[in-house]
Amino acid sequence: IRRIGVYTSGGDAPGMNAAIRAVVRTALYHDLEVTGIFRGYEGMIEGDFKNLVSRSVSSILQKGGTMLKSARCPEFRTVEGRKKAYENIKAAGIDALVAIGGDGTFTGAQIFSNEYNIPVMCIPGTIDNDLAGTDYTLGFDTANNTVIESIDKIKDTAASHNRLFFVEVMGRDSGSIALYAGVAGGAEAIMLPEKDTAIDELIEMLEVAKERNKTSMIVIVAEGDKNGGAYNVAKRVKEKFDFYDTKVSILGHLQRGGSPSSFDRILATRMGYFAVNELLSGNSQGTVGIRGSKITSTSLEDALKGKEFKLDEELITISEVMNI
Ligand code: ATP
Repeated sequence: IRRIGVYTSGGDAPGMNAAIRAVVRTALYHDLEVTGIFRGYEGMIEGDFKNLVSRSVSSILQKGGTMLKSARCPEFRTVEGRKKAYENIKAAGIDALVAIGGDGTFTGAQIFSNEYNIPVMCIPGTIDNDLAGTDYTLGFDTANNTVIESIDKIKDTAASHNRLFFVEVMGRDSGSIALYAGVAGGAEAIMLPEKDTAIDELIEMLEVAKERNKTSMIVIVAEGDKNGGAYNVAKRVKEKFDFYDTKVSILGHLQRGGSPSSFDRILATRMGYFAVNELLSGNSQGTVGIRGSKITSTSLEDALKGKEFKLDEELITISEVMNI
């Protein structure tokens, strides 16, 4: 391997910059060259490349988003699109890739790597924490911290006015943020896409909390909850349980931004370092992950096949016990 191409693709997440920095500096340490591919697969198809040196990644460690930009690129799903991408890669002398993104990004990388026999290592970057092959994805910890900060603030106002707040957090298919932030923020109830809690069941939980003379209550609703999001849940609860002043807060895209937490910076740095070393030791197709406290790799095939990411059942139970 002489030159590594690095790109970010799909939804952005805090910690992606820290991972780019680690990939670049580890590669330079091994006397490799690095090309930054801008806007993911779109930039690969258009040849939007830039040579990266150590200084190119100065002062990005602490920044959210991604300096390489990200995009969704339907053209890369086509054989012709990928052919254009390969011609650009070849012309630039890139002979290995590091992809940072979610499972769509990984799928594209796997297909491309198989078609053109180019080694690729993937780094899981998404706030949703829903990828197989790792306990944590980049950005998840930071997003949780952002959500908790918001919950704490909402609690202040809720407690002053006897309010029942429905706070919607990101996670179309995954309740990871809802569960973690719900536990860390001391929510009275958590609505997860994986659990499918009925409105009547939720009302029962709120009745119990009311019996304990709670002056305020917070319900965390994951975006992908089957009842149709926080507004719908709030409306249906209010029809039968109208004791509190009911409010809805949708946190939205602010969950994607912000300076990465210490955990995400360290995880990103370890993963970027590991990805380059794996390529150098001959791994031709894998994802990097953290298992327990160890950084490991999983073949892309296994990581994509074993997609069904499961929420921690014990943590769900704990969240219920905490509301006794
Ligand atoms: P997130 O889920 O966090 O938004 P992601 O990486 O899953 O991130 P996607 O939009 O699903 O985001 O995928 C990113 C890009 O990867 C797509 O826009 C497309 O260019 C490429 N891609 C996804 N699936 C395929 C596929 N089956 N074949 C080729 N390319 C693909």
